[in-house]
Amino acid sequence: MLITNGRVVTFGEANEIIENGAVRVDGELLSDVGQAHQLEQAYPDEEVVDAGGQFIMPGNICGHTHFYGAFSRGMAIPGDPARDFPEILDKLWWRLDKALSPEDVKYSALVCLVDAVKHGTTTLIDHHASPNAIEGSLDTIAEAVEQAGLRASLCYEVTDRDGPERAQAGIEENVRFARSLLDNPKSQLAASFGLHASLTLSAETLVDCVAAADGLDIGFHIHAAEGISDQEDSLRKSGKRVVERLNDAGILGPKSILVHCVHVDAWEMELLRDTGTWVTHQPRSNMNNAVGVAPVETMMRGGIKVGMGNDGFSNNMWAEWKAAYLLHKLWHGDPRRMGGYDIISMAVTNNASLARVFWPSAALGELAPGAYADLILVDYHPFTELSAGNLPWHILFGFEASAVTSTMVAGKWLMRDRKLLTLDEAAIAARARELSTETWKRYWELGNS
Ligand SMILES: [Zn+2]
Repeated sequence: MLITNGRVVTFGEANEIIENGAVRVDGELLSDVGQAHQLEQAYPDEEVVDAGGQFIMPGNICGHTHFYGAFSRGMAIPGDPARDFPEILDKLWWRLDKALSPEDVKYSALVCLVDAVKHGTTTLIDHHASPNAIEGSLDTIAEAVEQAGLRASLCYEVTDRDGPERAQAGIEENVRFARSLLDNPKSQLAASFGLHASLTLSAETLVDCVAAADGLDIGFHIHAAEGISDQEDSLRKSGKRVVERLNDAGILGPKSILVHCVHVDAWEMELLRDTGTWVTHQPRSNMNNAVGVAPVETMMRGGIKVGMGNDGFSNNMWAEWKAAYLLHKLWHGDPRRMGGYDIISMAVTNNASLARVFWPSAALGELAPGAYADLILVDYHPFTELSAGNLPWHILFGFEASAVTSTMVAGKWLMRDRKLLTLDEAAIAARARELSTETWKRYWELGNS
């Protein structure tokens, strides 16, 4: 298939904008990228899709998300407002996740996947928790991802907060799912080994997790130093700061993701860099939880690999870009901070490398021959000069996720001209509304018990 008559934004090494460009989709990959007239001449018998002058761009990648949190939307939290991050965890997330049934897990995922297709986010790295529906939960989410046609890496958040049996069940769910993919690979699914956070993990459980992950060829995915309480807890428990504790336990490495890293010191940054560990930045979540601002510019300058996630906020990744762009300027009182290229480094270049950890056989996050055919069409009409050099600022100030009209993953259309092709949004939303009413009741009962 040729997708022609578009402005092709390649990102990647070429990093160019091809006016009146085209891409050739061959199976799940792109086999050619170039001028429309050249590709039309070279492949005269190919099916042609006219992009109508829209942008043809790589789909967005989300480095950290939580499908399970979707039913929190609009939910009242009983009692006084949470005064700090530990109270937010206790009053909201650690009750909502306990209230989830197996069907809630499925529909929380589906509503997020609808959102991702509509907003052009084609690769998602999820971090799941449902303490009363652990076994098989990753299969349930995987089925939803396959139905949607998106690309996702899944894991279960192991934690000691619900007792040793559930900690063990979480470990088993990670192992079972990762092993099932080793035995029966699915091209758009991948696994990591999920851990909640240092503050809910004992030394013994960390040892168990590292032992259980042996031979699975996957990294860990864990919240780290999100709030200052994680550092206080780690120092109390081990005499070490969070990143040092996790490193000594064998959690760090080039396939592992440490999410947030808001409160890390210089020595912890050295450990992150020297081990090649991934860090993801989620500024909307950090602002909402009032936990602080992660020193991600310093980390990137020092050679740490920093990507971008959304932590369960909308799958409109451009909204996350904009939050990062604005937050760091205000926080530092300096409009020179967090430029457009820093955003591209995190959200495009580094996220593409992070995705490669899970899908090593072809490139993501760029349009080039041999890359996966994961792309979006964006209806945007620049009224000033636009080039590869100033594209970041067009995206930051001009692009809206509502301009995404079509989404393709692995050569298959998931949305064309704003019509969803794999998911029935109205039916999914209707069932999710029925389910979430009951979820909210269970959540309130947990709060009163
Ligand atoms: Zn998170």
